[in-house]
Amino acid sequence: MRVPKTYLALTVGPIYGTIQSAKKVRELFGASYFFSWFMRHLLIELRQSGNIDIAVPYIGKSGELLGTSHNIGFFHDRFVAVSSLSVDEARNQLKKAQEKALQTCAEKLRTNGVDTEALKAYLVMHPLVIEKEELAKIDKNPLIAIDKLLDAKELHYPFAPTPSKTFVYTCTPEEKDKFGAEEITDLSPVNLFGYKIHTIKREIGLKIESFRSTHDLAYESGYFVVVTADGDKMGAKIRELMGEGGNVENIRSLSKNLYRFFFENTNIRALTNDAYGGELIFAGGDDILALLPVRHGSKTFLDYLDELSKRFKAVVGDEVSLSFGVNIVYYKYPMKNAISEAFTLLKEAKDWGKRPNIAKIQLVKHSGQKYDTLHALSEPAFATLDTLVKGTLAHKDRTRQKQPCEHTDESPCFALPHAVHHTLDLYKGAIVKTLEDGRSLEPFFEKIFDDARTDAQKRGLRYLQNHIEALRPVTKEDFYRLFGDLNIVKFLRGDRDDLPA
Ligand SMILES: [Zn+2]
Repeated sequence: MRVPKTYLALTVGPIYGTIQSAKKVRELFGASYFFSWFMRHLLIELRQSGNIDIAVPYIGKSGELLGTSHNIGFFHDRFVAVSSLSVDEARNQLKKAQEKALQTCAEKLRTNGVDTEALKAYLVMHPLVIEKEELAKIDKNPLIAIDKLLDAKELHYPFAPTPSKTFVYTCTPEEKDKFGAEEITDLSPVNLFGYKIHTIKREIGLKIESFRSTHDLAYESGYFVVVTADGDKMGAKIRELMGEGGNVENIRSLSKNLYRFFFENTNIRALTNDAYGGELIFAGGDDILALLPVRHGSKTFLDYLDELSKRFKAVVGDEVSLSFGVNIVYYKYPMKNAISEAFTLLKEAKDWGKRPNIAKIQLVKHSGQKYDTLHALSEPAFATLDTLVKGTLAHKDRTRQKQPCEHTDESPCFALPHAVHHTLDLYKGAIVKTLEDGRSLEPFFEKIFDDARTDAQKRGLRYLQNHIEALRPVTKEDFYRLFGDLNIVKFLRGDRDDLPA
């Protein structure tokens, strides 16, 4: 195309406000999928104007991804495009495309009350059409300048108030049976999108028959896991890729790599839903929202974080990484809190010492009491924590089923002595000193844990020792993290007695 002189961008919402009013997994998926579906229609309309070249998200070489079913709402709530049109012409085109996309989506939702005007009143769109030269005054890099402008416009704030608007809706007989609803009913947007997910999915050939409920996800422990993820150092990556001039081809190659991260080899929905027994809610841009069981087969939620993290580095680049907010909650815990806390944890993970590739993990007990911990995924203590979780869960299973212990290094099986937390708390100073002197904790552990009687417990002590040597606690915060780890492990394996926080 000719030299771009105008940039176009837009965000659509209120995505967080909408998903936060979801009570069921289907509604959560439907709500986030709706925004992606709307964005898809908007991009289709924009491309038809012929003079607009979409840079973010990646839509394939000639827009073919706009017509592909991915089983994920992967079109982000934000697009960026370039054009050789003047600002006024481009603004007109964008306005037309918005109107048409609204019309198409309202028609497809085909419900009483959900006309174009109702949908228009509900969606919050922030369009931006600006000359290249104007952007350069804000940042040398046009993409970063656009992000700044759009962030300012929408006050990119995840906890927007829950939308109160409802649509008057007439159920089909099928929906009446399926959802046990009245024929004419007031539906909140999230209910509507949850109902309509089946209509939307038919249009694009989405093959989703049903969703696992939080009860299904929590089958083993009564608890399920909310995972949120977001890319680290993406701004630096954009600067590095584009240089100062702002080469659109380079932005597109970043979008393409993010696309490959989600879909190449194992599609990320298949990974989440099949390999980890979870429900992928959203995967777009560099964000992920997924619900998982604590463990599925031999894999835990920690393995999921590790797998996503490695995959992100391998596909998008070694200098970028993912950080995670992880909330482990009782299956009856309000979905709104489960989700919003996970986003808060993600923010805290990203703020923690300004380090990349961090997971902040919280467990909210049925009683409301909370434990949390923080780990850098690249550090050995993340792997030793995973082993502690796996070994104790495997041992719990075998004990329950009255099977003998079967332990190998690859598939560990062990127990932790009961009073481990209290003993460690008592000997904090000696642990720090031993590690500072470069000595092994082993002889010391044998002395202080004289309540370890069974072979499984003695083996567990070795793994605990490995974890503490990997973590190398010194500060109060280090010990807080260690005790957070142990509380989470003990709780997941089924010790319901309260430990000091
Ligand atoms: Zn065992």
